[in-house]
Amino acid sequence: MYYLRKKPLLDLPGELTAIWSCIKDGCNGWTRDNFVFIRPATCIQCGNPTEKSEKMQSNVDNTSPDQTKW
Ligand SMILES: [Zn+2]
Repeated sequence: MYYLRKKPLLDLPGELTAIWSCIKDGCNGWTRDNFVFIRPATCIQCGNPTEKSEKMQSNVDNTSPDQTKW
């Protein structure tokens, strides 16, 4: 039987998303893991290496085009 891991929206402030975040101090560039085709990814802003991380992504922010704000 197909099981959807669906959590109740009420106690779900956001979704933990796998990302690659820039290792450079002062740079907040990051890319979603499912947008990365070559691993490890390089920073889209400065070209430095990135490291695997996780980001709590608010559900209401999902449609925001500004991905660099934390
Ligand atoms: Zn960077």
